[in-house]
Amino acid sequence: MELTAVAVSQSPEEKFREFLSSRPRPQRYTDQQRDMVRYIFSKHNHFDADTLCEEMRQKGLNVSRATVYRTLTKLVDAGLLRCLETGPKKKYEHDYGYPQHEHLQCQLCGKMIEFQNPAIESVIRDVCRTHNFHMNGHTFVIRGTCSECNRSRVTKRRLDLI
Ligand SMILES: [Zn+2]
Ligand SMILES: [Zn+2]
Repeated sequence: MELTAVAVSQSPEEKFREFLSSRPRPQRYTDQQRDMVRYIFSKHNHFDADTLCEEMRQKGLNVSRATVYRTLTKLVDAGLLRCLETGPKKKYEHDYGYPQHEHLQCQLCGKMIEFQNPAIESVIRDVCRTHNFHMNGHTFVIRGTCSECNRSRVTKRRLDLI
């Protein structure tokens, strides 16, 4: 399921270029970085650095692991990607041009289910107000087992009984 994209004034590439050029020491936008940004923003996904390397190589896009790691950090700093701490491997997803949402993470198949819930949003805003806290964003991940994995576990248990 994909949530509806949010309208943005710049393309992800433009925004990243601007970020690189406005740093204390302006940095070059390299071909490898361009390939990465284009690849990442071609579809909404939750991915880790290693999977991204693998997939890009399969598409014939040559990026070194070091570049992938470094660029992912910059993309987070630039506000293009969001980092989700979901276990041993950090996951990334679009932040720029994508609405705020929360996640259910299946610990058996690894699936990430996205959802939006106005009640959660309002609780978070209340908590911030109480603490006089300026929020830049949040990540909320519920861990457990998805409906498909639950179903197959039940079926397996039934088969074990026969
Ligand atoms: Zn599952
Ligand atoms: Zn997501």
